[in-house]
Amino acid sequence: MQRLRIAIRGAVQGVGFRPFVYRLATELSLRGWVNNSPQGVFIEVEGAKETLDEFLLRLEGEKPSLSFIQSLEYSLLEPQGYDAFEIRRSDDAGERSAVIMPDIATCPQCRDELLDPRDRRHRYPFTNCTLCGPRFSIVRALPYDRANTTMRSFAMCPRCRREYEDPKDRRFHAQPDACGVCGPRLALWDERGNTLATDDDALRHAAAALTRGLVVALKGLGGFQLLVDARNDEAVRRLRERKRREEKPLAVMFPDLASLKRYARVSPLEERLLMSPESPIVLLERLSNSALAPSVAPGNPYVGSVLPYTPLHHLLMRELGFPVVATSGNLHDEPIVTDETEAVETIAGIADRFLVHDRPIERHVDDSVARVQLGREMVMRRARGYAPLPIVVRRTLPPLLAVGGHLKNTVAVSRGNEVILSQHIGDLETAKALFAFRKVIADLLSLYEVTPLAVAHDAHPDYLSTQWARSAPYPAIAVQHHHAHLAACMAENDLEGEVLGVTWDGAGYGDDATLWGGEFLLGDASGYRRVAHVRPFRLPGGEAAIKEPRRTALGLLHEMGADFGLLPPPSDAEPLSEQDLGLLSQMLAKGVNSPVTTSAGRLFDGVAALLGIRSVCSFEGQAAMMVEFRAERGVDDRYEFALRQSEPLVLDWEPLFRAIVRDRDAGVPAGVICARFHNTLADAIVEVAKRTGASRVALTGGVFQNRYLTERAFHRLEGEGFRPFTHQRVPPNDGGIALGQVLVAAARIDKGCA
Ligand code: ZN
Ligand code: ZN
Ligand code: FE
Repeated sequence: MQRLRIAIRGAVQGVGFRPFVYRLATELSLRGWVNNSPQGVFIEVEGAKETLDEFLLRLEGEKPSLSFIQSLEYSLLEPQGYDAFEIRRSDDAGERSAVIMPDIATCPQCRDELLDPRDRRHRYPFTNCTLCGPRFSIVRALPYDRANTTMRSFAMCPRCRREYEDPKDRRFHAQPDACGVCGPRLALWDERGNTLATDDDALRHAAAALTRGLVVALKGLGGFQLLVDARNDEAVRRLRERKRREEKPLAVMFPDLASLKRYARVSPLEERLLMSPESPIVLLERLSNSALAPSVAPGNPYVGSVLPYTPLHHLLMRELGFPVVATSGNLHDEPIVTDETEAVETIAGIADRFLVHDRPIERHVDDSVARVQLGREMVMRRARGYAPLPIVVRRTLPPLLAVGGHLKNTVAVSRGNEVILSQHIGDLETAKALFAFRKVIADLLSLYEVTPLAVAHDAHPDYLSTQWARSAPYPAIAVQHHHAHLAACMAENDLEGEVLGVTWDGAGYGDDATLWGGEFLLGDASGYRRVAHVRPFRLPGGEAAIKEPRRTALGLLHEMGADFGLLPPPSDAEPLSEQDLGLLSQMLAKGVNSPVTTSAGRLFDGVAALLGIRSVCSFEGQAAMMVEFRAERGVDDRYEFALRQSEPLVLDWEPLFRAIVRDRDAGVPAGVICARFHNTLADAIVEVAKRTGASRVALTGGVFQNRYLTERAFHRLEGEGFRPFTHQRVPPNDGGIALGQVLVAAARIDKGCA
């Protein structure tokens, strides 16, 4: 028995939507309610998971013909025990606060017109209507009127104006309304920004360039994308070299669902997600016979897949008829570029052609990334299609600003019972990222007219977000990193009261000034007790160890009092010299530049290095991903671990690592060892849960992007009578902590100890 909560925005009011929901729910014998508010239509239904899935899929498949869903977000929650299904009275009482809509994928009607030779918008790449098109990426201020969007510089032609003013027209008050006569236009530039072609010719030439294996930078909805033929390994490698992105997986855009299905396995829920108005990149299991270039996602059984979501993408992909890599137009991990002049400067060395247009992008919005696991959605990067829709929480919040962490940064503001989480900003490592971070903060505060009572930030003193918060003109509230993870997971799962947070990630600043990351925190937003943690070990070289899993392995071996000789020679790097090893050994022995950590994420690195899977990483989290992918399915046994009786409990990994080395030396395949390693961690989570007496367990932190571990731990917990929770709408990684920071800071203000 579960509760499905759905929030729908779009043309769903006054078109018989609520009676339809009522009929569908009662037909499926689901209990709950539906209501209508200025914020949208909200539905809660309770029943068996399979019936809820059916409800969700039929809701979209059978909805009234006049209705259109612009955004649908759902979460699976604990049941409330409703005893009937009812249409609740409309809730108009609440303050009619403006909802800023995210950018919405092209609707079927606009797509049909686009492809209809008799339509006046035939092949016009910027068509849109009241139901679809750009929103968040073009709005400059509220109210959302054309004059307050980047479309202000385009004067509507008489025909567009007539549609815009006709209440019966699908384009009535469609702020970005435009056509080929009056709207934005396309151009194709060479690598120096000289115009090669315009309008339809630009599109056709761009398609021809892609077919020839060239890299095309496309000005999309929320920024530039770099495209290259995804079947052409040489071309993909060239893109990787130019972008200096060695192995990190690249997303792929497919012409349509039918062609995508030739490359990857798609479940009904995944299909829903791919075709949704949010249209995120969905991680799909790739078919083994797929003709994608190996360099798209080396050694990765998944492929980040996305379908065309703007008219421009639809036209281009139809022209091509084959999948293309579609990755962010940026350098390294800088924020995505939004302006064509800047693009020519920044990504000139990367792209051979620029397919640009003259509709300015007001703010960067990356593609969102999501996956389906445990039969539910998990948003891993929240941006286009989702931002800036609010996360609705149980309590009323004071106006606050939260500035997130360091990696995968997002920021948040609160207003009433809503938290508005910004679009993905990125790692605050470069000047450009920091600039974007400041800009997004100013942007959110002004769009939502929030004057924060305080600014919540991570407790890490060195994070640039922390430094910004401390110099901001608001009282600063430091929030422990893993506490924020726990509060975020609780908030989006609608949980109150004490919950055991299994908060596992790479690293976060701990209360004792060491690097935490394998924490078990019992509590809620108002406070926590650290009831257990991973046995501490040292990371020789600190930051350097994060890039080099073999250093972590040495840190673990040192802590175990084991011989460094147990580390195998690397297959992916030059071996460490005797001198290096001696130096690292001394660093560890003396504790110099070797911070103490309890990181669970780093344990994966240790396994990767000890099994010879990876000794040096080319991107964050790579080694951990490889250990996950290597884990063989169908292995059910595990290694020993120890739980030291102390306060807090200490999860000792030494028996586990000794067994791993033993198995390795006995020739047990790495896939089996990796599976047993995951199984051990899942059982350790269950064991700690048993000792703490908690009944509800939240799995949160970047480690829980690992599907094998998350599913295994979830099922094991359920099997032992616990109620486990995972992230759904908000990323489990640091992209979600701004939400948790808001809740923790609000609780602190309640207690008067901010
Ligand atoms: Zn439309
Ligand atoms: Zn026009
Ligand atoms: Fe974290």
